[in-house]
Amino acid sequence: MPETIFSKIIRREIPADILYEDQFCLGFRDANPQAPTHVLIIPKEPISNLNSVEGENNELLGHLLLIGKKIAKEENIDKTGYRIVINTGPDGGQTVDHLHLHLIGGTHLGWPPFKN
Ligand code: 5GP
Repeated sequence: MPETIFSKIIRREIPADILYEDQFCLGFRDANPQAPTHVLIIPKEPISNLNSVEGENNELLGHLLLIGKKIAKEENIDKTGYRIVINTGPDGGQTVDHLHLHLIGGTHLGWPPFKN
């Protein structure tokens, strides 16, 4: 897949407020937060979106979710609640073609999440 800005963040070529890193993934604050807590969790492996995920990525997907849970606790929003979202494709609102989980919380979140 073509490189995105997230590959540059992984390689520390552009700055980001990184909260978590391990050999599989990175968690960093969204540059345009939509809530008091808005963190992106991305695999280091360049997977473009959920459509590109295959069976061999089962463990990786589970890991990303568990890191989302861990960061939610560290951000102190585990008890008040939060949302983890994976935007996929144009109608899903995906703007960066590198798989990412949005961890959003710190305020009451509206539902349903769509307009019009
Ligand atoms: P998407 O719309 O693809 O689901 O989410 C992409 C997210 O990446 C957006 O919320 C956007 O604010 C965030 N984003 C885009 N470029 C950058 C960047 O350079 N740094 C950070 N920290 N977030 C970014």
